[in-house]
Amino acid sequence: MVSREVQAHDTVVRFGNAAVGGDKFAVIAGPCSVESEAQLMAVAEMVKKHGAVALRGGAYKPRTSPYDFQGLGEEGLKLLQQANQQLGLPTVSEVMEVSQVESLCQYIDCLQIGARNMQNYALLKAVGESGKPVLLKRGLSATIEELLLAAEYIFDAGNPNIILCERGIRTFETATRNTLDLNAVAYLKQRTHLPVVVDPSHGTGVRELVIPLSRAAAAVGADGIIVESHLNPSEALSDGHQALTGPMFEQLMQELKPFVEAA
Ligand code: PEP
Ligand code: MN
Repeated sequence: MVSREVQAHDTVVRFGNAAVGGDKFAVIAGPCSVESEAQLMAVAEMVKKHGAVALRGGAYKPRTSPYDFQGLGEEGLKLLQQANQQLGLPTVSEVMEVSQVESLCQYIDCLQIGARNMQNYALLKAVGESGKPVLLKRGLSATIEELLLAAEYIFDAGNPNIILCERGIRTFETATRNTLDLNAVAYLKQRTHLPVVVDPSHGTGVRELVIPLSRAAAAVGADGIIVESHLNPSEALSDGHQALTGPMFEQLMQELKPFVEAA
């Protein structure tokens, strides 16, 4: 159902006043984790000012170590809703378990399925049945075919509003956190009508590489990016090393202007 053979025209996924897919390059931005009201509101205002169409922020965090910050949970979801109400910036946040879907739906506009849950079929069915737009991240070691079949689960559960996300895969390379697979973006744009976004933050894991890889994402035909940003990255509770500072986010938006403003 997600194949171009079934539907030739591009799907545009809308939530709030954000549209992903179609002619404009969409920039979704915000912190890895929601940490506090002050942190979230400051970064949300900054990304909005420079042209982000949606705010990202994790409230439930899939951390590799159980001793690391696990997210604010429902309190974080409430802060995201507050940011949306105050700034008119629709929100994207990760849902990690079926039991969280209902609560996420109450506060959040687009549900993120994280890389670690791409093949959690119960969760895929649950977000499919929720009817909310879904941003589906490629698994750490998932093939493109497996990503498309995961999307098919959501579609089959009655939800066609799916955004695919290339966020880097595991390879032998260790200089960067992951290897951003831009082949996948070009390939997916041919194979499926669903919008495809790139996550250059997790794709590289290195702040200085985020802007060049964002340009590459736009050049290869992605429909947008989802990018981590923090006003004080050295104090961030997760993924600070890959977060764009305020000035870097402003520079990113300057460089993406021709794509963001395309008619
Ligand atoms: C994130 O978006 O912060 C995240 C944990 O992403 P991924 O699932 O791609 O690792
Ligand atoms: Mn992160």
